[in-house]
Amino acid sequence: MNYKKIYLKKGKEASLQRFHPWIFSGAVAKKDNDIQDGDIAEVYDCEGKFAAVGHYQQGSIMLRILSFRKEEINIDFFKRRLLKAYEARKGMGLDYNDNQNCFRLVHGEGDFLPGLIIDFYASTAVMQAHSVGMHIQRGMICDALTELFADKIDSVYYKSENTLPYLPEDEESECYLAGNGAGHEAAAVENGLKFAIDWERGQKTGFFIDQRENRKLLEHYSKGKNVLNLFCYSGGFSCYALRGGAALVHSVDSSARAISLADKNVEANFGGCPRHRSYVADAFEFLQQSEKGMYDVIVLDPPAFAKRRSALNNALQGYKRLNAKALEKIKPGGLLLTFSCSQAVDKNQFRLAVFSAAVISGRKVRILHQLTQPSDHPINICHPEGEYLKGLVLYVE
Ligand code: SAH
Repeated sequence: MNYKKIYLKKGKEASLQRFHPWIFSGAVAKKDNDIQDGDIAEVYDCEGKFAAVGHYQQGSIMLRILSFRKEEINIDFFKRRLLKAYEARKGMGLDYNDNQNCFRLVHGEGDFLPGLIIDFYASTAVMQAHSVGMHIQRGMICDALTELFADKIDSVYYKSENTLPYLPEDEESECYLAGNGAGHEAAAVENGLKFAIDWERGQKTGFFIDQRENRKLLEHYSKGKNVLNLFCYSGGFSCYALRGGAALVHSVDSSARAISLADKNVEANFGGCPRHRSYVADAFEFLQQSEKGMYDVIVLDPPAFAKRRSALNNALQGYKRLNAKALEKIKPGGLLLTFSCSQAVDKNQFRLAVFSAAVISGRKVRILHQLTQPSDHPINICHPEGEYLKGLVLYVE
């Protein structure tokens, strides 16, 4: 084990004693000259005492910590971490069974593996790297996965085209690292509902697992209701609303591919369902043109409006405008389920934007539920940035 070395400035080891998973460039006094992006590096405090080991990357986050113990970052290390993540999922009631074969196994910092995401979709695992270090170690991580979970998965799809800071030369960011995923597309089951998941061409790792519990809550409120699912993607919320007994469900997305997935998923669960209609349309325009009082329940789950902090103000304006329009249109006594998945927008900022929307709409609004991401997207307590999904269920008079 001959890892590169980084030395901290005096006093900068304090965040590591609290198990913060990153080291910022400002904390670094010196580092080996030949250290390269993606290298595994050991961190020492100013007195030369070992502090942590992790993935080095030039930038403001200089080290993503893998361990606070002096240990080798090899296949056995990844096996131990993956097994720990899996045991935690089992404890959450998320193991494979007849009703469920899709969950997030690894959620980056929340599973002490910064820069790594792994989602299980039936017999395929989709793996995503957000750091050069994880990208370089993808083959080893894939081997750890296939060895540990041979009874569950036979394919590992690597999907990092949009998540790596850049692609190291001559390397692939989208490919099968194991198996070929053949014939598995239609097999994912979530709370007993079937979903076709297109990890090759779909968004994110193919599906928004993070809305699982919020979709279930919608099911609970849907009986006899007219439901509008805006930004529906593959129709997750729509299927739960239909199972909950909604009178009608309208699914809207600007992407034709998303709508065809939503239609396919409704068909797979409910056959030719006359209660469901889908529209390829801009969500804001659809709302603008919709009849006032037509919908009892509206779901607003837009893509991240602010991918960066610099876009924060525009994002907040966007949430305000969209929510104001939905509140204006909703039937008296109706419910608005509104979400933000922008990491740069915190819970309070989002709530304030929705509050402004309520004022603009002139409706009397109460908060019934405050929602977040599910347990398989755990938040490292030292890393509150990991809490990215925020939602409110509003009762609108
Ligand atoms: N609610 C979904 C996830 C939504 S992801 C689920 O539970 O699976 C956001 C979706 O918004 C994407 O499918 C994207 O195609 C769509 N989208 C982005 N901009 C849009 C717009 N202006 N109008 C309608 N849909 C839009």
